Amino acid sequence: MSDFIRMSAAEVARGVNGAAFSASDVTDAVLAHVDAVDDRIGSYLTRLHDLARETARNVDARVKNGEKLPLAGVPVAVKDNMCLTGTRTTCGSKILENWISPYTGTAVQRILNAGGIPVGKANMDEFAMGSSCENSALGETRNPYDLDRVPGGSSGGSAAAVAAYEAAIGMGSDTGGSIREPAAFCNIVGFKPTYGRISRYGLIAFASSLDQIGPLTRTVEDAALAYEAMAGHDPMDSTSIDRQVEAASTALRTDLKGVRVGIVKEFVTENLGPEIHALYQQTYAELEKLGAELVDVSLPTADYGLATYYLIAPAECSSNLARFDGVRYGMRIEGADVGQMYEKTRAAGFGPEVKRRILIGTYALSSGYYDAYYVKAQKARTLFSQDFKRAFESCDLIASPAASSPAFRFKSKSDPYSMYMMDYYTIPMSLAGLPALSVPCGWVDGMPMGLQLAAPLFEEARLLGAAHAYEQATHHARRHEPKMLEVAS
Ligand code: GLN
Repeated sequence: MSDFIRMSAAEVARGVNGAAFSASDVTDAVLAHVDAVDDRIGSYLTRLHDLARETARNVDARVKNGEKLPLAGVPVAVKDNMCLTGTRTTCGSKILENWISPYTGTAVQRILNAGGIPVGKANMDEFAMGSSCENSALGETRNPYDLDRVPGGSSGGSAAAVAAYEAAIGMGSDTGGSIREPAAFCNIVGFKPTYGRISRYGLIAFASSLDQIGPLTRTVEDAALAYEAMAGHDPMDSTSIDRQVEAASTALRTDLKGVRVGIVKEFVTENLGPEIHALYQQTYAELEKLGAELVDVSLPTADYGLATYYLIAPAECSSNLARFDGVRYGMRIEGADVGQMYEKTRAAGFGPEVKRRILIGTYALSSGYYDAYYVKAQKARTLFSQDFKRAFESCDLIASPAASSPAFRFKSKSDPYSMYMMDYYTIPMSLAGLPALSVPCGWVDGMPMGLQLAAPLFEEARLLGAAHAYEQATHHARRHEPKMLEVAS
């Protein structure tokens, strides 16, 4: 049993396609493991045992029929902001607590077409706003490496599920860091492709000009496989890009010869404390040892990332979340008139962080302030793209920390700003729409840390290729596994 749960997606697919074992065997093992550990971890808001078994039987029948499926029998955790027909899709919010998806989103459907098995719907910060999963209104998710610490967010349930072997692929969404930061906190790989690469049809929107779906996995190879299954044009999403997806799983490299890696001079890791600083110095040296040439690059706008993001994302969320008003989706609390019904429903349905963002966003979009805030933030955003363009003239990839600290303890970030700071390194790439990932790079304070690598637009294959070389040479992720699992499995 433990063999199946610890297998990578690539290993599972190979075994199922080659008839060494069946998708049902793997699914049964994973479901039993979820039942054994998830009461303590809390990765899933909804377990989909029946659907998983039924899907596994279908996959087995397809394989028997001679089909070769790139994700045959691979257990998948689906973030709970992605629609899957007949399942609850809550966004971690009371307002959608009992809302059932009427259809399946494109990315989820493509994972199913490729042979993936939906194990459950994973917990998340409410409407993907947060960096710890603590903003979920529906449950707590714990970091499998230390149950007193957060798994990161907002895709914290997907990250915890993958780290604790409750799935081999976690589907996440990343608006400002929500795939990369939880991946770093949970010692796994988290990959956000170029904006527009993966269709968001069926993803409940947070900030539409930033949201991007991507995989969380235990290996870079698995991230490449999941990406290939999900990426590509979809007419159902007007922001989806109609452009050839280069094969990434065949571009994985074992060295970094000839690769110029930019180190951003404004990202001063000294500020993060001596231990973290030393870790990243060592990480950059490891890249060099693999043949990379380290070059200094500059992102003069780096310090404006948070300010820019926290205008654009709330502005877009205030507009996107207007649809949750008691009329069509989810919760409704009756009032004396329709206005009161809206007020009561939204007051009871949204949590404090979501309300804060709606207030900031509505203010930033209001007449008289629109130019001063929203338009200015959009202009700043252009500067980010220009900065990166300039930086990529002298390098092929950019390296940095993925998060400002390792996973922290519950309730230790009481003011919103300190929580926002977690995404200091990931937000610039989001503003510029760039592909970026986090790969495990070592340990601080007994907890894992992530190296963020970013590439120019559409250079996913280059990015994953290099991350694979780093992973294979260092194996930081494999040095420890969550202690609680040694007892559980
Ligand atoms: N932590 C950031 C926020 O709260 C990013 C979230 C995300 O990427 N969805 O907005």
